Amino acid sequence: MNANSENKTNFYGRDFLITKDVLIPRPETEQLIDAVLNLAGKPYLPGVKPSKRKLPENPTIIDVGTGSGCIAITLKKELPDATIIATDISESALKVAQKNAVLHDTPISFIISHLCQKVKEEPDLVIANLPYVDKTWEWLDLESLKKEPSIALFAEDGGLKLIKELIDTTNAKFLILEADPCQHEAIIKYAKNKYTLTNIRGFALEFVLKS
Ligand code: GLN
Repeated sequence: MNANSENKTNFYGRDFLITKDVLIPRPETEQLIDAVLNLAGKPYLPGVKPSKRKLPENPTIIDVGTGSGCIAITLKKELPDATIIATDISESALKVAQKNAVLHDTPISFIISHLCQKVKEEPDLVIANLPYVDKTWEWLDLESLKKEPSIALFAEDGGLKLIKELIDTTNAKFLILEADPCQHEAIIKYAKNKYTLTNIRGFALEFVLKS
């Protein structure tokens, strides 16, 4: 991809514009969408019985670190009654997300923010595919990852810096996080006093706030 070119990548059955400013949507992230649909009591696979709805009607959902906007936009398409807020610290990423929202005709509030810092609403659900890659993992294909912005991929503290900060600063009843499976145990342990793990779905961790 050269500096100004745009590519399209399919995510959850829809095409999204992708530039050098955003992470390329990956198949493992589609399971975060399944997790939300399941919470909303909606079918997400033809042969799987959806659970009883746990999310309230007209839920407020924040997609933290939205990048291309693929999670936020897909959720608005699948759950039209939801209010969707999407944040990113990167202004150039948010521009791509806004373009994608226009393309898909989905009203979403986009906010430039570190995590949820600038968001005033109290969400029912926080969903996040944050940067969680640890630069020192020996299995990384750094050559391929060069095509994407480092700010969207890498995090300090074994990749957990931002995930931990989000756990510390959110009080949403439901929290859905993507992380590498090798990080799951550490995240569950870190969240333990505040959030109970309810399910693991591939890369996705599903939590509920302790009452
Ligand atoms: N799982 C992605 C990868 O394989 C990383 C995505 C992310 O950092 N959020 O590169």
